[in-house]
Amino acid sequence: MTTLFKDVFILDGERKRAQRGHLLVSKGRIQSVLELSETPPAADKIVDGRGHTAVLPGFVNAHTHAAMVLLRGLGEEAPLMEWLQKNIWPVEAKMTAEHIYRGTVSAILEMLETGTTCFADMYFEMDGVAQAALEAGIRCALCRGLVDGPLQPDGTRKIDRAVAENLSLFEKWHGREGLLTVQLGPHAPYTVPLPDMKRIAALAAERGIGIHFHFLEVEWELGYIRDELKLRPEDYLRETGILGVPGAVLAHAVWMDPEWADETDLPRVTIVHNPCSNMKLGNGVMPLDAWLDKNVGLALGTDGASSNNRLDMWGEMRSAALLHKGTGRNPTSTPAIDILRMATFEGARAFGFANKGLIRDGWMADLILVDLDQPHYIGADEDNLAGYIVYAGSSADIRGTMVNGKWLYRDGVFPGLNKEEIMRKAREARNAIVS
Ligand SMILES: [Zn+2]
Repeated sequence: MTTLFKDVFILDGERKRAQRGHLLVSKGRIQSVLELSETPPAADKIVDGRGHTAVLPGFVNAHTHAAMVLLRGLGEEAPLMEWLQKNIWPVEAKMTAEHIYRGTVSAILEMLETGTTCFADMYFEMDGVAQAALEAGIRCALCRGLVDGPLQPDGTRKIDRAVAENLSLFEKWHGREGLLTVQLGPHAPYTVPLPDMKRIAALAAERGIGIHFHFLEVEWELGYIRDELKLRPEDYLRETGILGVPGAVLAHAVWMDPEWADETDLPRVTIVHNPCSNMKLGNGVMPLDAWLDKNVGLALGTDGASSNNRLDMWGEMRSAALLHKGTGRNPTSTPAIDILRMATFEGARAFGFANKGLIRDGWMADLILVDLDQPHYIGADEDNLAGYIVYAGSSADIRGTMVNGKWLYRDGVFPGLNKEEIMRKAREARNAIVS
């Protein structure tokens, strides 16, 4: 099966300018990118862009909790700990594997129609998340959120059980159909005791597994690490062994100082910026502009739909690109093209997905189709397209989302997924857990 994108603008996060030309997809991969002057090759399917369509890599949502779509709207405008303790944790306690599966499938609809081709998910009952991703054909990096808690009735520790579950998820799903990777998911420094965090990091390093966790989302975590754990916050990653893990993904890092990078080696670390969730929860603004000068991975995520409240990576791009210019009073900071790279390639790399997130010969055809034949794209060309995409465009411009060369969303339709049925089941799940 081959698909030809004829006369389109091709843009990814590592191109200085867009290229107008043709793109051939074969057997799930980008086979070739041709100049406009070259004769387009024959193909089974042709998408004629007529010079008014762009092809971009699909977005990688590098930090979310997909099934939290079922908790959207709960505890609006409350502070983080109050929100978690009063509105989120009691409802999560009622969620079954079935609810999480239903919520995730519904979240996948939202993600596909807003151009996401891969999402990194931390939650529980993750077998259902893996199953939902495989059924939809979307890529997913998954981990079990690991937290400590009261002793279990049989005398075992909650976190020990969760770690065992996370390891069996790795055995069962890692690498499955090329769509899934699995990480260990210690929730945060304040929910995972220090000795357990060290043990989890050692396990990850020994077995070659990545780690995905929340780090310094809220300012008081700095005091917690200093006073309760008796560590300088800047030493936490080294002391726990997290820096020795093959890939460590830190969600938020709002309160991590970029100067720490000068005394700590962070090349295997990726920070996931979640601007909308951080703003909505009043957690502050991470200094992205300063991080862009450091040797560290930088990706973009939405966080859960109950703190965003969207799963729309395009909205996240626009917010990230605007936020730091405003707070830094610097219109030259956080360039659109860097934001596009964060929203695509950097997230894929962070979670062990090779050859994804850029438009290169031989790379996987995880692509989105963007309709430029609209008033807000008048004047877009090869040189300014990134700016048009990030500042003028929105996910409403997406006409198609493909993973492995296969359309998962096209012109309002989800081939292979029954939208009405998925929404009906998600509504039932919502009603069952929120009453
Ligand atoms: Zn989160």
